[in-house]
Amino acid sequence: MRKRSVDTDSFELKVIDVVEETPDARSITVEVPEGAEEQFAYRPGQFLTVAVPSDRTGVAARCYSLSSSPVGDGPLTITVKRTAEGYASNWLCDNVRVGDTLRVLAPSGIFTPASLDADLLLFAAGSGITPVMSIIRAALAGGTGRITVLYANRDERSVIFAAELRRLAAEHPDRLRVVHWLESVQGLPTQEQVRAFAADHLEDDAFVCGPAPFMAMTVAALKELGFPRARRHQEKFISLGGNPFGDLHDVEVAEQEIESAEADPEDAAAAPVPGAEAAAPAAAVRLEVELDDETHAFDDWAPGTTMLDHLEAKGVKAPFSCREGECSACAVRLLEGEVSMRHNDVLDAEDLADGIRLACQAEPVTDVVRASYS
Ligand SMILES: Cc1cc2nc3c(=O)[nH]c(=O)nc-3n(C[C@H](O)[C@H](O)[C@H](O)COP(=O)(O)OP(=O)(O)OC[C@H]3O[C@@H](n4cnc5c(N)ncnc54)[C@H](O)[C@@H]3O)c2cc1C
Repeated sequence: MRKRSVDTDSFELKVIDVVEETPDARSITVEVPEGAEEQFAYRPGQFLTVAVPSDRTGVAARCYSLSSSPVGDGPLTITVKRTAEGYASNWLCDNVRVGDTLRVLAPSGIFTPASLDADLLLFAAGSGITPVMSIIRAALAGGTGRITVLYANRDERSVIFAAELRRLAAEHPDRLRVVHWLESVQGLPTQEQVRAFAADHLEDDAFVCGPAPFMAMTVAALKELGFPRARRHQEKFISLGGNPFGDLHDVEVAEQEIESAEADPEDAAAAPVPGAEAAAPAAAVRLEVELDDETHAFDDWAPGTTMLDHLEAKGVKAPFSCREGECSACAVRLLEGEVSMRHNDVLDAEDLADGIRLACQAEPVTDVVRASYS
């Protein structure tokens, strides 16, 4: 075990509504405290990290995507689906009431369209509809493109947002098409069927969120159709291993054993990590980072320190969530130079080849590193 102190900027948000979406899923709406509006400005598809109380560990930190739309200043809503035997999802569904508070980190994440005016091809399965719903709502309210959705569920009872999707599709017949795929009726969707569905949308921006086999199959279909990496976005729903709410106590973090990777080049654990073999530079490194239309430049990034730690030490409010290389909230794109990553559970070989790195895990291996958060 290694021990680590983490400073976080967490917020207590008041719960103002709880809605039972299906027997297994609840939407929880929270109020942003006065003065924190800027921190809670979010993009459709982003998520909150929630501190779920635990007698065992103090906090179980879990990410939940916002299902609400940032267009129009409405309150923030997350939608939580019970995981069989899961701790946090069941705790949230069983315990959270109007008037309670939830401790959260500000919104994060990169599963978000570059433009709301783009034509969007959205694939969701089960709780994967949550960020997709945010994208649909925001694009309809604030954009101009056409939106095509394939939404897979076990059966009719498990369809989250069924009525809302029906209403939106009726209101925007020229812009929104939703195709429901019920396993109870059609069986599991196959790669061939998804390929056929996507074939008329080759120029769209594609977003995929759902259980791992659904995502792997859908991404494989998109690849077969030649969707470039830049127009294929995925959100992996995993449970964080660490605790970014570290101001409660020092955090005991189990050293992660990287599981022996199977030979799947898409698998993050299997992806060769650029820079892994490189020796650390002897002296301090120049770091230039583009974030929110500003460039931050420093000449004293110490080898052995992560990019995120260095930026925070310099007072830069860089995005992060898990700090464990598991969630991609801190993803940057390298513009120059190279870094090595201590741990990577989320970026696949193509992400790495595209220059994407996790700032919370990135240590310098070249004398100059330039990176962008956009
Ligand atoms: C970016 C992102 C967005 C996501 N968005 C959504 C979303 O919109 N909706 C959604 O439903 N899910 C979402 N998820 C998934 C979500 O974060 C959780 O992974 C999911 O809810 C399952 O968590 P769980 O604790 O219920 O289950 P598990 O993680 O499977 O629970 C088991 C784990 O809890 C631990 N545990 C058991 N008992 C305790 C205890 N008493 N105290 C502490 N730990 C305990 C166990 O050791 C085990 O590790 C998202 C995930 C990510 C990464």
